[in-house]
Amino acid sequence: MSAVATDRVEESINTLGSCRVCDSRDLEPAIDLGEQPWCNHFIRPTDAGSEPFYPLRVVFCTRCTTAQLDFTVKKEVLFGNHTYLSGITKTLNNHFAGVARTVHDTFMQGRTDKSVLDIGSNDGTQLQYYKALGFSVLGVESSKPTAKLANESGIETLHAFFNEGVARSLNRKFDVINASGVFFHLEELHSVTDGIRQCLKRDGVFVVQFLYMKQILKNLAFDQIYHEHLLYYNLETIQTLLGRHGLEMFDCHLSPIHGGSIIGFVTHAGSQPSSFRFDTMLFEERAARCNELVAYKQFQRDIQRKKQKELEFLRAERTAGRRVFGMGAPVKGNTLLNYFGIGTDLIECLAEKNALRKGLVSPGMHIPIVLEDELPEPPDTYYVLAWNFKDEILSKNQKLIDAGVTFYFPVETDTNESPRYRSNRLSRTCSSARVAQ
Ligand SMILES: [Zn+2]
Repeated sequence: MSAVATDRVEESINTLGSCRVCDSRDLEPAIDLGEQPWCNHFIRPTDAGSEPFYPLRVVFCTRCTTAQLDFTVKKEVLFGNHTYLSGITKTLNNHFAGVARTVHDTFMQGRTDKSVLDIGSNDGTQLQYYKALGFSVLGVESSKPTAKLANESGIETLHAFFNEGVARSLNRKFDVINASGVFFHLEELHSVTDGIRQCLKRDGVFVVQFLYMKQILKNLAFDQIYHEHLLYYNLETIQTLLGRHGLEMFDCHLSPIHGGSIIGFVTHAGSQPSSFRFDTMLFEERAARCNELVAYKQFQRDIQRKKQKELEFLRAERTAGRRVFGMGAPVKGNTLLNYFGIGTDLIECLAEKNALRKGLVSPGMHIPIVLEDELPEPPDTYYVLAWNFKDEILSKNQKLIDAGVTFYFPVETDTNESPRYRSNRLSRTCSSARVAQ
């Protein structure tokens, strides 16, 4: 117990005293997911049981309405050696290609010597697509092995945590700055945002991609909440943050990536009028009241109900003698497994294709990870933790579906459909519907 307590002191920063965006001290408890290990900490079986646990709680700032974690695990622990690879799925590759093409065609026509800086550039996948369009590229990546991979594949990558100091040392400005899936991680939020303004040309575009809290609330995608995601933005809240640093979002669209992400286009404040679609989405956001505490309180009640329903489903599978494997070992899957309390009694293993996770077990629930192509035989049911890749998973596994394997998605991204659990139940009794909705 004392070893765990010591780890927590060394690896963590104390509970938040003021809002990460506006410094207000008026923070209200909003969502409580209990104590959890940090989700990217896939561990060796021999280390199971020694991983530290930290509070996983979202608080709501009543002044600027930003939802955020009130407990920070140090970034060196979270990102120094992570095993996430962005180039691993076709869906993400297509997405990155699309973003680069859109930015090029919309904002960069006629420019020569175009340059792009990618913050949190991972294995360089996004930059490969910019490079193919004639951009000079530079990545900044905090994970040493991942930065090494990028450099080996020909993408110049600096191994560092980007912040204002790194921006100053770069001493150059870029036509495009990209930050995909990292902007909510930032412990040094204001330093990073300042660095972005410094490195952005006067007529440059900062492309910010982030999980959209409005979609998380709508889809009950509570597993998107984990220690690496310190902040959960809506348009209104990210605009507040950008405004503090002389930046402004002027256009955006909703992408299906990761279950609903905003691709926002940002520039220096006052230099671009906002687009009609940006104004419309901002209006819809306010109409949906997702910048109000009441939406978060309701969310907490809904996910508690969801927990009971999901456990009933998995227990029924086991009672019926059906074998259940997890599909994918995504970081967010660990929030779901730990909050629901799903262990090897309900899910035998997690089928994963990232070879860096081979032979490890999931943090907290200790479910073994097996590489997808090394499974001796398929289960009766896949419980799909990587639910955000639904289309790709279904199309790649058509043969298994035809052979009778059920693919069950604990989170659905289209709430216009029938309620999730009801449609899952229907699929259990209808022999022609092998794909659980
Ligand atoms: Zn605030």
